[in-house]
Amino acid sequence: MLNNDDFFKSLLDNLYDGVYFVDRNRKITYWNKGAERLTGYLSTEVLGSCCSDNILVHLDCQGTCLCQGACPLQTAMEDGTTRETEVFLHHKEGHRMPVLVRTAPIHGPQGEVIGAVEIFSDNSAKIDTLQKFEELRQMVFVDTLTGLANRRMLEMSLHKSMEEMARYGWPFGVLMIDIDHFKLVNDRYGHAIGDEALRIVARTLAGISRPFDVIGRWGGEEFIAIIANVDQGNLHSTANRYRLFVQESTVPVGSDVFKVTISVGATLATAEDSIDTLLQRSDRLMYQSKAAGRNCVSTG
Ligand code: GH3
Ligand code: MG
Ligand code: MG
Repeated sequence: MLNNDDFFKSLLDNLYDGVYFVDRNRKITYWNKGAERLTGYLSTEVLGSCCSDNILVHLDCQGTCLCQGACPLQTAMEDGTTRETEVFLHHKEGHRMPVLVRTAPIHGPQGEVIGAVEIFSDNSAKIDTLQKFEELRQMVFVDTLTGLANRRMLEMSLHKSMEEMARYGWPFGVLMIDIDHFKLVNDRYGHAIGDEALRIVARTLAGISRPFDVIGRWGGEEFIAIIANVDQGNLHSTANRYRLFVQESTVPVGSDVFKVTISVGATLATAEDSIDTLLQRSDRLMYQSKAAGRNCVSTG
């Protein structure tokens, strides 16, 4: 029959998670087998040292060291609460290892805090999954050439805006944006410079759009912006700002630069609209701008 201490020790040692205790001075007093496995440090190497002694040196997701001032064990002892944090610890072999850390204070017989416990588990699977999800999201919703929202994302955003207008009465407008004489750009400078021009226009448009507006590439040299919460006047001035900023952007070619312009069709969504009628109207207005000499905005 195991005595109590041995029983708990064997229980903790057989946990898959890493577990260690520190006393009030953050000196490590217990280090289980899981901690050895996850960090590469044997208990004989760490027992008696302070957890901030260049052993695990937890970093948060931004790479900030938590040992001075933001140690999760120290905070657990100070405010007596349990918390969960995602950190990157220093593995004995040198690499940074993502772990999910839970810390809690340990109380003595009189309820006083006598130390803290840290339980940590391998977080790489989760981080991997998050990264894969982000890559997948990028593939599905982001235009690879420009980094803007792609057509699918724009269609989803249009649906969402239509629903919000129907349900809450939130107004929105659409800008159909087409680069002028883009075929000439390709003919004159080649397709690669044409691609660069598309990226420059995309960056300018993204840079001046507000965070809650959606700007994306509809296809070829056409872009769509979904402008939230506007009236006719604001929609027109937004479109005109877009036009002006593109006109004032430059595309490098060798030691020289050239400029492109855009023609814009701007229209507010109405309760009678479907996505199709809304897009048809903005397209018609865009062609009106082409017919009016290009590099201008038509609102309707
Ligand atoms: P307009 O002012 O009437 O819009 O003239 P335009 O030349 O821009 O219009 P048109 O639709 O005739 O030509 C669009 C050109 O855009 C044709 C195509 O070669 C070019 N284009 C479409 N997608 C891309 C792309 O991904 N990269 C490059 N480099 N060119 C593209
Ligand atoms: Mg076009
Ligand atoms: Mg064009």
